[in-house]
Amino acid sequence: MAVKFKADSRRWLTQSYNPRELEKEIRKFWETNQIPQKLIKLREKTNVDILGYVEGPPTLNGVQHIGHARGRVMKDLRYRMKAMQGFYVTFRAGWDCQGLPVELEVEKALGVKNKKELLERVGEERFVEECKKTVMKYYREWRSADRKLGMFMDYDKAYWTYFDKYIEKEWQYLKRAWEQNLLGEGYYVVAYCPHCQTSLSNAEVGLGYEEVEDPSIYFKLKVREAENEYFIVWTTMPFTIVTDMMIAVHPEAEYAKVKVNDETWVLTKERVEPIMQKLNMKDYKLLEVMLGKELKGIKYEYPFIDIVPKQRELDEHPLVHTVVCEDFVDISTATGVVHLSPGNGEDDFLAAQKRDIPIYVPFDNECRFTTEAGEFSGLFARDADSKVVDKLRKMGLLLSVETVCHEYPTCWRSHHKLVWLARREYFLWTDRVNTKVVKAAENVNYFFDGPKNRFLSFLKEGKPWCLSRERVWGAPLPIWVCEKCGDKTLVASKKELLERALETPSQDFELHKPWVDRLTLKCEKCGGEMKREPFVLDCWHDSGASPYASFTDEEFEKYVPVNFLVEAIDQTRGWANSLLLEHVILTGKAESPYKAFLFYGFVLDEKGRKMSKSLGNVIEMNPLLERNSADVCRFYMLWKCSPTDSMNFDTRELSKRPYQVLGTLYHLHRFLMQNAEYDNFNPQQHTLKWANENNSLKSPDRWLLSKLQRAVREITEKLEVCEFQFATSKLEEFVVNVISRQYIPIVRRELWTDAPGTLNRRLAVYATLWHVLKNLTFLFNPVTPYLSEAMYQRVYKQLDKTLPESVNFEDWPKPDKILQDDVLEQEFETLMQCVSLVYSARQNAQLKRRWPLQKVVVVAPKKVQNALKNLEEAFLELANVKKIDYVEDSPEETDEKRWFLALGEGMQVLLDISRDESLLGEGVMRDLARRVQALRKELGFMPTDILNGVHVAELDSESMRLLKPYLTDMAELVRTKKVHLHKKRSEVKAEWNERRLDGKKVYVAIE
Ligand SMILES: [Zn+2]
Ligand SMILES: [Zn+2]
Repeated sequence: MAVKFKADSRRWLTQSYNPRELEKEIRKFWETNQIPQKLIKLREKTNVDILGYVEGPPTLNGVQHIGHARGRVMKDLRYRMKAMQGFYVTFRAGWDCQGLPVELEVEKALGVKNKKELLERVGEERFVEECKKTVMKYYREWRSADRKLGMFMDYDKAYWTYFDKYIEKEWQYLKRAWEQNLLGEGYYVVAYCPHCQTSLSNAEVGLGYEEVEDPSIYFKLKVREAENEYFIVWTTMPFTIVTDMMIAVHPEAEYAKVKVNDETWVLTKERVEPIMQKLNMKDYKLLEVMLGKELKGIKYEYPFIDIVPKQRELDEHPLVHTVVCEDFVDISTATGVVHLSPGNGEDDFLAAQKRDIPIYVPFDNECRFTTEAGEFSGLFARDADSKVVDKLRKMGLLLSVETVCHEYPTCWRSHHKLVWLARREYFLWTDRVNTKVVKAAENVNYFFDGPKNRFLSFLKEGKPWCLSRERVWGAPLPIWVCEKCGDKTLVASKKELLERALETPSQDFELHKPWVDRLTLKCEKCGGEMKREPFVLDCWHDSGASPYASFTDEEFEKYVPVNFLVEAIDQTRGWANSLLLEHVILTGKAESPYKAFLFYGFVLDEKGRKMSKSLGNVIEMNPLLERNSADVCRFYMLWKCSPTDSMNFDTRELSKRPYQVLGTLYHLHRFLMQNAEYDNFNPQQHTLKWANENNSLKSPDRWLLSKLQRAVREITEKLEVCEFQFATSKLEEFVVNVISRQYIPIVRRELWTDAPGTLNRRLAVYATLWHVLKNLTFLFNPVTPYLSEAMYQRVYKQLDKTLPESVNFEDWPKPDKILQDDVLEQEFETLMQCVSLVYSARQNAQLKRRWPLQKVVVVAPKKVQNALKNLEEAFLELANVKKIDYVEDSPEETDEKRWFLALGEGMQVLLDISRDESLLGEGVMRDLARRVQALRKELGFMPTDILNGVHVAELDSESMRLLKPYLTDMAELVRTKKVHLHKKRSEVKAEWNERRLDGKKVYVAIE
């Protein structure tokens, strides 16, 4: 036999699938040949349409972890699929560089405790320098992780939120808001982080709920004009009693006066019993019931009037320290009597504002009480809790105190408990455009209902957006105020600013603090000097401006609203929200800047716990991808669960099913390549069309081709609607079951011969596999780009030099109706059911699948019989029997020792398990052949290599006798010139390998 090799697949596909090695080489290929850049150029030049995309910019204050990567994998998947479908996608990177997250990271690095120390010790100029350094440090980390992950983003056209040109465009949004009176100064209660010393937006508050401990106290407030009569009040923030101004009741609810010892207590009627129980009061008597509104105007004695002098002054106001009626009072918990501190609560603030009650906020920037708070002055707000409790106890007003554990908003960056403070801030009055915002959001495709409802219900709250931050590293608020007449002006560009500035700025001028604060303007009204409001912007405003700020004006017209965005579920309160609000303000339309938004779930650890630094279970991408394959990780993240579900990431699972699936795809290619090379398969000549015209295609091939059309259709559909877990399961099913477990076993034996008479048939099988595996490689590309590129380069491009340079330049497969054959698929379905019955009968009889048997009888209706008869060749091969009989009715009596029965739906099989000497001999031969095949593989022989000889020794004499007639068959099967049998190993000198055959030792050697 002359063996000719056109190419040697050993050079291209190593014996085992080693994804990390392969990924290294493919990465080099992409970079050397600039494949991502060429893909952009290709789609810019020829495309079916343009799809706008804008990146949800990662904040450069930390490294990429698995939660980020889950989203990046989905983004990259979408990009690669759309590119193959012929779309030009603006898949440009973006980096969020400013704001509190970056500042805190730098504070930590500089060892600064708080803002005050920062400004004194470090100063703004150096601090800004450090922030930029930090941003660059994390940028390199992110690029390195993205590179390993195989991201095809456009980094050359990335946007950076701290660049002047970006900030200028961000100012354009503010200008539009300013013109529409949607931006302005206000006194309002905002969440304030005492550590970061800045206010947070409503959206930010929602990002940081944590379980915290707080005191829970019940206390009394004495009615001024009555003997021993008290309101019963509950709070978890005792310090707010210092700023208490009113108590509120629900006007329509029933309130009771209750006799307790010699006192009268007032609280809501429906809470009397539980409260008395709670306070351990057994003797009490209901005196009187009245409506809340009847209590209105009652004056109570403010307990700290002697130690907080300012409160004595405020007490002069007719409404201060009286009962007011408010609908927001909840009478189903606590006592239904709520004390109001307008300086420390939003509802309280609004209640005071509508009654013209002064707002009393005796706090400095570190959230400590000022001298206005008398005896409490100098204490940090939350530290005053215990002092307040002490004072109440000494005054005999405290009824109970305990500790409660509850969910409470904390700072999403520093984790400090937030405090609500009335402050002067700048707001976007987004509440005024809420109808438009909600309408715009309703027209977006969210793919899944859960995240959609979550997002819409958040938007419907429609609170104003507190935009100002008392920080340093951020986009400056471009509002200047006249010191003389108070007039305000908004400057919307650097050019305008420099033109209007009273002095020429320094060389290193940039649109940041402190440089921008040094510029003063001349008031156009009175000629006075205008100074900038010292705030910077909420960093969520930076990223929210990206659709306009990251594109040129022409690009904005073309690409926005963008086609498709992906971010984590917490971005409902973050980026998805700020994008929407800013776009509605910018355009004045009820239009969203995105048409579709996929929110994906969190990644948890293998036990389902949240990943956190304190638990030490955060998975960072750079180290993870040092040790694991990116393709396997990508496949795993998409395959394990729905994108909206939280995912429990278990690194041990990577090496299981995901690796197996990709490994099977790899080995199928190896199988094709080895055989195809041997028979000089030429894909340009031996096409499906050629095979068809030669009548060389058989029903298994047509079936596989039909299955492929279905897979293409279904996988594409599932990917389009972001049901990635179903798409990847279908890929898995197709590779592992359809090709590897069903098709290959049917055709394998046809490929083993090298008779020239059947060459065309073998070439037809290669043509089928070539077509199917190639299309499958395309379908895998968005999920496992490395493996797809590797197969493309090492298999397809090896045998067909006319193909494009990269798999990414190929077209996405489309189902071909001509190749679809539903009847044939149905017949195969029946065949597979029947074969699995044969397997279960074999299992019951403990007969291996590779032992040939004489006969199987199928009991089934005519229609089923016909389907099976059409596929009889495949049936014989899979069932490994010599003959099949078909009957309609099951035989009356059968010998139970000889016939093994298996029952299925609408059919049954009877397997004849009797074996004569010739079947036994063939069985022994198959068993031995399998061991020789395994040894060939271990020793590194190619399946196409012809061995000089195979030696078998110390087989028992009975087996030897049975085997003798099959030695020629065996030689053909294991591809050797001759098989030699020996009684003893010593009969010939050879490298013996010990093997086990049904529990007995046998020795095999290869020359
Ligand atoms: Zn904070
Ligand atoms: Zn002025």
